[in-house]
Amino acid sequence: MTEPTPTSGIHHVTCIAGDPQQNMNFWTETLGLRLVKRSINQDDPSTYHFFFADAEGTPGTSMTFFPWEDLTQGKVGSGQVSQIAFRVPARSLDYWEDRFDQRGVDYDDRVERFDETVLPFRDPDGLPVELIAVNVPEDDPTVPWTEFVPEEAAIRGFHSVTLWLADPDPTQDLLQTMGFRKVGTEQARGDTPGDKRTRFAATGSVGKYVDVLPTIESGRQGHGTVHHVAFQTPTDADQEAMRKAIRSAGLRPTAQIDRHWFRSVYFREFGGVLFELATSGPGYTSDEPLDDLGSRLVLPEKFEDRRDEIKAQLADVSIPLSKEINTGD
Ligand code: ZN
Repeated sequence: MTEPTPTSGIHHVTCIAGDPQQNMNFWTETLGLRLVKRSINQDDPSTYHFFFADAEGTPGTSMTFFPWEDLTQGKVGSGQVSQIAFRVPARSLDYWEDRFDQRGVDYDDRVERFDETVLPFRDPDGLPVELIAVNVPEDDPTVPWTEFVPEEAAIRGFHSVTLWLADPDPTQDLLQTMGFRKVGTEQARGDTPGDKRTRFAATGSVGKYVDVLPTIESGRQGHGTVHHVAFQTPTDADQEAMRKAIRSAGLRPTAQIDRHWFRSVYFREFGGVLFELATSGPGYTSDEPLDDLGSRLVLPEKFEDRRDEIKAQLADVSIPLSKEINTGD
């Protein structure tokens, strides 16, 4: 069998939130990401689907949420993504701690991990998130959104996700099938004492890493937990080759599903984490001009004739305005 093209890394991460306005405010105003798409859950159109990303919705930068108010608080455990880490520029962690102090964000002491400094915090739903200071290269593929956070500190896409697994071995083999290579193992500082964190790296520069941590904790999906993590398979051909490799590994990937801004294949990996493969195109600018991303409720075509009915079921959510506009009157 021919080997699939290795994934270059994470494409997006999708999580479960509670109150949609609280989610919107935190991820745009406090963390400074750009709302690049305001849509609905295509499998549950009475629920929003928010996409927060860099200025251009570059693959490897989008954090998406289903605000499912009816669900209860979740609990991070095995078979889940336990932490989501974003890249921020070197020397910006002081800025972030000051910002978190001013805004009452719940953060922990910095920890060193694989020679990088990590600032762990939680979003208002208790989702475990981290900022990791990196040297952002001149030609970085991400484009900072500077509406609320200056360029020197702005989030520059994903750094990594950590998987909590009861039995890490089969998942570690799978990651290598997908094109990740093992970087190393270290005592997980800031994690449960005795745990060994094993890091895998993809070929890209954004969303490059997946860390694996063994755990016996059991989890429960709900507010503040991750729904799935998607990996980049840029073209349909890349995706189909990866899908075949995953099926050969003994898993059961879905057929390709059109998600309007990308095309997706889903499968539950050996440890129970829901993985997705996502194409690079057509992208978030396929139905809205770059300048207007996120400004209106966008519905995939098949839902367009139900727009009024769908809108009536959604909570009113206001989009935070920039400082310039807020102080202008
Ligand atoms: Zn997805």
